[in-house]
Amino acid sequence: MVKKYIKNTNTNKTETATQRKRRLQKAKEKYKAKRAKESEGDRNSRLQKRREQLASKTPEQYEARIKSNRYTQMVASETPEEYEVRLKQSRERQRQQLDSETPEHRDTRLNKQRERTQQCRANNLQAFENGINTICIHVCDICTKRCYPNQVRTVRYNAAALTYLPVELTSKISLLLCSRCQTHVTSNKTTMWI
Ligand SMILES: [Zn+2]
Repeated sequence: MVKKYIKNTNTNKTETATQRKRRLQKAKEKYKAKRAKESEGDRNSRLQKRREQLASKTPEQYEARIKSNRYTQMVASETPEEYEVRLKQSRERQRQQLDSETPEHRDTRLNKQRERTQQCRANNLQAFENGINTICIHVCDICTKRCYPNQVRTVRYNAAALTYLPVELTSKISLLLCSRCQTHVTSNKTTMWI
C-alpha cells in the first residue's frame, strides 16, 4: 500500500495518515468534551450565531464552502465500492446509536421528529392551498389572453417605436404581456400578427 502524505494545514508540515488520524481523533475528543460541558443556553446561542453566519453568505460563498468541504470532496471522488462500505458503516453506526439509546432519549428524539414532520406537512399544505387558489386574472395588454401570474411580464419598451400598436398602448409606460406577445414586440417584426 502506498503511504499517504497529507498536508497538515495546522502546522504546514506533511504528516502520515496515522498521524493525521490521531490528530483528528484528539481534536474530536476535545470538541466532544467541550460540547458536553456546554449549557442549553450556550448551545442555543452558538447554534443561532452559526445560523446567522450561514444566512449572511451569498449563494456563491455557500457553494464554495460546500465544495471545499473535505467530506464533500471525499464523497465526490469515491468508487462504488467505497460508497457501499461507507453506507454500511453509517448504517452500523446508526444501529449502534439506536441500540444504546435510553427510553428518555428515544422519546425526545421521536417527539422532535414528529414535530418536524407536522411542521413540514403544514408548510406543504399551505403551499398547495396557495397554489390552487391562484387563478388566471392577468390580462395581456395586446392579445387580451387571460394568464396566470407566472405567464405575464411587466415590460417597459419604447412603445412609441412599436408603430403597429394602437395609441392606447403606445402611450403606456409599461405593458403587461404574455410570452407570445413579448417575443413579438422584441422581434424586428413591424406588423401586428392578429
Ligand atoms: Zn399576449
